[in-house]
Amino acid sequence: MTAVPDRLTEMLTRLKLTAVRDQLDGLLDDASRQDLSLRETLVLLCEREIARKDERRIEMTMKLARFPFVRELTGFDFAAQPSVDAKQVRELAAARFIANGENVLLLGPPGVGKTHLAVALGRTAILAGHSVQFVAATTLVAHLAKGHSVGRLEERLAHFAKPKLLIIDELGYLPFEPDAAHLFFQLVSRRYEKGAILITSNRSVGEWGTVFGDPVVATAILDRLLHHSHVLTIRGDSYRLKEKRRSGLLQKAAAGEGKTERKA
Ligand code: ADP
Ligand code: MG
Repeated sequence: MTAVPDRLTEMLTRLKLTAVRDQLDGLLDDASRQDLSLRETLVLLCEREIARKDERRIEMTMKLARFPFVRELTGFDFAAQPSVDAKQVRELAAARFIANGENVLLLGPPGVGKTHLAVALGRTAILAGHSVQFVAATTLVAHLAKGHSVGRLEERLAHFAKPKLLIIDELGYLPFEPDAAHLFFQLVSRRYEKGAILITSNRSVGEWGTVFGDPVVATAILDRLLHHSHVLTIRGDSYRLKEKRRSGLLQKAAAGEGKTERKA
């Protein structure tokens, strides 16, 4: 009696049908309880295996994306952030911009939810079957500069050109070295019309000349980035501070700041 399941277990393992292997008894019980035909039973087993494989793939892609934290669109309080067009964000979540190799710029002051939205859109992109990589602008530039200095720029450019969506966070918090701007330009050119880029920045597009330390390169970068792009400019106060004010923690500070505080 034991020989049969053992052999089956071995074969299922060899075929990498691990969900069927691990849940076989339960699945067969379900099938007999529901009086399924052999064919229907096979469908049930295949469905379970595919569901497990999809789950694993998503889990792995989420890990590879290297998000700094987990954030979802459902957790984004659109009412607290009226400058964000919820409809536009939901459209982006449908991931068509990724299929079309378009870009997204999320601009605004610190704490208004740029990274939250970037991560949430990255996660929906993965659920839609795309590969995603999240990287801080300074880390990205450091990687490219290192590659350049050791003669492996091509490899690094290829690495960052690969994911269907590249999320570059916090562009502009630190100004670039002039060389770095050139490297960044090469990456943007390489992805142009092929791979989507989502950038978050606390600087307006008009200030990017200063960020890149070179207005000519900045113009060339912006030219490509903005050609097929969705720009969301978020205004208002930091969400974290607003939350604190609401809970009364910052009442004293609020007294000194006047009008804006009474709204919160
Ligand atoms: P930014 O990248 O613009 O500096 P973050 O996205 O890091 O800001 O947001 C700061 C914190 O506030 C995060 O924990 C984020 O989840 C939260 N947050 C910001 N805006 C909202 C919002 N509208 N609804 C819910 N949480 C928000
Ligand atoms: Mg951020």
